[in-house]
Order: sequence, then structure tokens, then C-alpha cells
Amino acid sequence: MIFNQTQREFAEAVKQFSRKTLLPDYQTRERIGVLDRQLLKQIGELGFLGVDLAEEVGGMGMDAVTAGIIAEEMGYGDFNISALPVNVSLLGSIIQRHAHPDVAIEWIPKMISGEALVAICLTEPRGGSDAAALQFRATRDGSDYLLNGEKASITFAACADASLVFARTDNGTGARGISAFFVPHTLPGISQTRYDDLGSAVIGRGSIFYDNVRIPKEYLLGDEGKGFTQVMQGFDYSRALIGLQCCGAAQASLDEAWAYSKEREAFGRPIAQFQGVSFPLAEGESTIASIRQLCYHTLALRDADLPHTAEAAMCKWMGPRKAHDVIHQCLLTFGHYGWSKDLPHQQRLRDVMGLEIGDGTAGIMKQIIARERVGRAAIQY
Ligand SMILES: Cc1cc2nc3c(=O)[nH]c(=O)nc-3n(C[C@H](O)[C@H](O)[C@H](O)COP(=O)(O)OP(=O)(O)OC[C@H]3O[C@@H](n4cnc5c(N)ncnc54)[C@H](O)[C@@H]3O)c2cc1C
Repeated sequence: MIFNQTQREFAEAVKQFSRKTLLPDYQTRERIGVLDRQLLKQIGELGFLGVDLAEEVGGMGMDAVTAGIIAEEMGYGDFNISALPVNVSLLGSIIQRHAHPDVAIEWIPKMISGEALVAICLTEPRGGSDAAALQFRATRDGSDYLLNGEKASITFAACADASLVFARTDNGTGARGISAFFVPHTLPGISQTRYDDLGSAVIGRGSIFYDNVRIPKEYLLGDEGKGFTQVMQGFDYSRALIGLQCCGAAQASLDEAWAYSKEREAFGRPIAQFQGVSFPLAEGESTIASIRQLCYHTLALRDADLPHTAEAAMCKWMGPRKAHDVIHQCLLTFGHYGWSKDLPHQQRLRDVMGLEIGDGTAGIMKQIIARERVGRAAIQY
């Protein structure tokens, strides 16, 4: 994909920020393990959050490809921080499209400025792959709803200021009867926890508990009982952006491994001269270049308002899986140094692995691709 002039200028600005400000402290932030809200505001002030959202709600009305550039360039400096622009683009576009205008105008500008963080809550303790089987309930009480249940494994659970919650509003099964709500966390009855994870501590994955949370009907997103099908369409977007976050992280490890291969000597010569060292890195470059192109192609399809569900699912399973393999190879290139926590490859490895699960596993993505190709013939009963 060849970027236009505006996209190239944007890429350069994010690249400078990511490499100068984010990259040096990637591991320190993870050791601290709490999202730095000042950094979030700084990213907002720089104009890197929600660039693709409409100008009326504080965005820049830019294209999805530019949002992808931000995800990739930030992923290079800090994979976990790159979740922030992805979150604002995904949730901002859902809120912009489906929320009551008063809710949209109150919350989206705060998300874009980095003052508010919103979590998306689909998964429950009983599971996430079969998302349409969710049990979390919203019961009607006059013109309000009462929310009850636990949402599990939620990114930003520990620090979110609001959540976008999927709940069953009738007694049916499957996708029908599921509604989506925007829930400010200032409401009584909400508690938030944090898990002790293998990586990505910065994003504070955890559970959110809703105990008789009263929410007015204006906070419904989309139509009652149709939230699942309406809102889930937005996920094609985040899947391509996640692929690019992973490309950024893998590219950082590749660049570092190439530089090391020129300096490190064995058998009286730089290890770059051994094809056993350079060819796996060359293969990694090829893999990441092809996934990057697929991701930008998917975003260009979105910008052109063309179908891209299968392509998005391809980005989502291949991005983290292949980035993991490439980063693993880079770690090995550093020999025993690669095994040390001083180098960032082990952290990138753990961080990208989280997104082999988060936002849907490879198994579910492949099901989506199969369904797009052969329709209901691909659905297991
Ligand atoms: C880092 C991270 C961030 C996350 N962030 C969020 C978030 O912000 N919001 C949110 O709602 N959720 C989030 N999740 C949860 C995530 O979406 C779920 O973990 C995921 O959808 C899988 O659900 P599960 O863990 O319950 O696994 P299960 O559904 O129990 O599946 C277990 C295993 O069985 C496989 N499997 C199940 N069904 C099939 C099938 N039909 N075909 C093939 N394989 C199958 C799965 O691939 C998996 O390997 C996050 C998870 C992680 C790790």
C-alpha cells in the first residue's frame, strides 16, 4: 500500500513520538503495571486518539488507514500503549454510530482528549468464544434498566471510566435479545478488579461487576434486542488494527535483531554472514510485510465502504500468531542475551500472545473466514 502525503506526514509524527518517548520505557511501564493517565492525555493532546472519528465529536474525520498507521507505529514503541488509539477508534466509532447524541457528545470528546477510557464488555466467566450465548442480564424497570452480572477478562477493567456492556434483555437464546449499553462508572453498584497476567499488565485486564446498576434507556446503544448484531459489525475494524499493532511490535524486534547481527561476531565474522542467522530474519521480514499489506488493504476496503469481514479475521489470527513467531526468532538471534529480561523481546512475546486470545481466538477467526466463503455450511451444530 502506498500512503498519500497526509498519511506519510502522520506516520512520521507518530514514529518520532513512539521511538523517542515510548520505546525507551516500554519495559519500565510494564514493571510499574498501571496505565499512566498522564501519558494517555499526552497522546490525546498530540492528536493521536480517534483521528478517524467525525469532526462534530472532536475527531479529525481521517480515514481508517491513518488509524492503522497510528496502531502500527505505536506498536513499535510500546505494544500495550498502542491499545489506546485502537480502543478509541473502535469504541468511538461504535458510540458515534449507535449511541444517543447526548451520550456521544458527552463522552467521545473526552475519549479523544485522553481524559476518559472506556472498556468493551462482552466476555463472561462462562466463556467468550460463543459470545452470543451470554447470560448477563438487563431487566426493564420503568424507563430504566437494571444491570446484573460479571464481565470477565476485560481490557482496561481496572481503570475504565465507563463501559460498553452487552446484556440479555429478553429470555431468548443466541444473538437475538442481546442489547448494548453505555455505562458510566460513576453509577452506584459497579466494582472493578485486576488480574495478575503473563504480560500487558499496563492494560489492566480484569473483571467488572454490576450489582443492580440502574441505567436510563437513553444509554441503550442501537435498538433493544439488536445490540449484538449491530455493534459487533464494528469488530472488523479492530481486527485489522490489532494486526498492525502486532506488525509494529515484530518490526521493532526485527530491526534490533538485524542491528545485533551486524555487531555480534562468531567464528571470526559478524553473525549476519551466516545464512542460518540472516535467512530466518529475512523470512520474518517477508511475513510481517505481507501481513502489514493485508491489514492496510482491509482498512482501505473499510474506507471504501466495501465488505472486509473475512480479511479482518485473517489479520486478527495471523497478526499475533506470526508476530509471536518472528519475535521468538529475534530473541534467539541474541543468544543468551535474548533470554534476559533486560531485552524487550521476551516482553513483546508475552504481550502479543495475549492478543492470540483477546478479541477472539484463531479458531473463531477461521470460522468467520469459512462462514464468509461457504455460508451456513461452515457452521457446526
Ligand atoms: C489480553 C486479553 C484481552 C481481552 N480483552 C477483552 C475485552 O476487552 N473485552 C472482552 O469482552 N473480552 C476480552 N478478552 C476475552 C477474550 O475475548 C476471550 O478470552 C476470547 O474470546 C476466548 O474466550 P474464552 O477465553 O472464554 O475461551 P473459550 O471460549 O472458553 O474457548 C477455549 C478454547 O476453545 C477454543 N474454541 C472454542 N470454541 C471453538 C470453536 N467453535 N472452534 C474452534 N475452537 C474453539 C478457543 O479458541 C479456545 O482456545 C480478552 C482476553 C485477553 C487474553
